[in-house]
Amino acid sequence: MDRIILIKYGELSTKKGNRNFFINTLYNNVKNKLRDYNVNISKDRSRMYISFMDDDLDKIKKVIDNIFGIHMYHIAYIVDTNDEIIQKKVLEVMNNTNFKTFKIETKRCDKSFSIHSQEYNHVLGCLILKNINNISVDVHNPDVLLRVEIREKHSYIYSNAYKGAGGYPVGSQPKGLLMLSGGIDSPVAGYLAMKRGIKLDAIYFEAIPHTSLDARQKVIDLSKELVKFTDNINLHVVNFTKIQEEIYKKCNPTYCITIMRRMMYRIAEGVAKKNKALAIINGESIGQVASQTLTSMSVINSVTNMPIIRPVACLDKLEIIDVARKIGTYETSILPFEDCCTIFVPKHPVINPKLEDSILMENKFDYNSMIEEAIENIYTIKINDKNIENEKFSDLL
Ligand code: ATP
Ligand code: MG
Repeated sequence: MDRIILIKYGELSTKKGNRNFFINTLYNNVKNKLRDYNVNISKDRSRMYISFMDDDLDKIKKVIDNIFGIHMYHIAYIVDTNDEIIQKKVLEVMNNTNFKTFKIETKRCDKSFSIHSQEYNHVLGCLILKNINNISVDVHNPDVLLRVEIREKHSYIYSNAYKGAGGYPVGSQPKGLLMLSGGIDSPVAGYLAMKRGIKLDAIYFEAIPHTSLDARQKVIDLSKELVKFTDNINLHVVNFTKIQEEIYKKCNPTYCITIMRRMMYRIAEGVAKKNKALAIINGESIGQVASQTLTSMSVINSVTNMPIIRPVACLDKLEIIDVARKIGTYETSILPFEDCCTIFVPKHPVINPKLEDSILMENKFDYNSMIEEAIENIYTIKINDKNIENEKFSDLL
């Protein structure tokens, strides 16, 4: 094991006061995600180091690529901080590399190492020029940029660089509740929220028998895709049938979607509070459909004071689809199962609903008790990155 993964925190390292908290959160997430591998993980203020078994490298890289808070990483050779040993390794590495031009960049983090960075660039450059034929130095656009990072005990030698997932480690923010439908937008919203460090619970509204078990399975499958980026997601499944039927019996059809969404927000708020989530997250995108005009949003939003985070609010559908493809949710999202938002859809949903009219209509039935009942009867499916647990899952089917 003469190589390690060298992780750079990036945006993380700009956090002065709570830097340790961020680094520890990232450390725990990395440790948890790599729990099945034979690795050794250590950290300091600017770097994390993972030693690994060579055979596992490809698999470990795939896991690391989905961990937020990692800005960049390198697969580096690790040697003792000793001039002779470093020179030997540098030559060995360059002998095994295909290049015509190169540049050396030394970073002397341990100032007790007697040779200055610039000087060491020169020493190592000459070493390579002397020992390898038909090559030259190019400081502007080299084929190979070899970095030599000299630290107290160990030094690191590498010429590769892999872009990490970026963002903040999941769990560096409190919990948020994601309204997860089977569509394209909400999984992307969940991904983007996790990227800012938010830990997710999810809520799914279903209206069986009007919506199918396949539709529910789709949401479970989407949650399984999202759990790649975190350790677990509690998916709260709400039976929305009674409320939805009542809405369609009592309310003006053009207002049904507005009122249905006001009910969803009320339930989401209750579930968020019960589960200590501080915000609701959803996949609304401004102007995409009648219920997502700014007027609609404000009428719908007015049932709660909880922050509503809409990570895709200002993205075009094509931009959302790009992310969905990248994170692997797109193929599942486009499966054609009816969602409770797509059943009983009125021909002309109101684009500019009025708050007073919405209130008048929803007061035609006792929605408070129905909301309470819906929250009481929620089934929670625990989705983790290995398997699904749910005490009452069999009752659901
Ligand atoms: P998506 O592609 O994510 O379904 P959409 O374009 O279909 O979004 P809507 O159906 O109007 O938009 O819903 C807007 C948002 O409301 C969704 O992104 C999701 O966050 C939430 N939502 C809609 N239906 C449900 C549902 N059945 N369960 C949970 N959340 C829902
Ligand atoms: Mg939808």
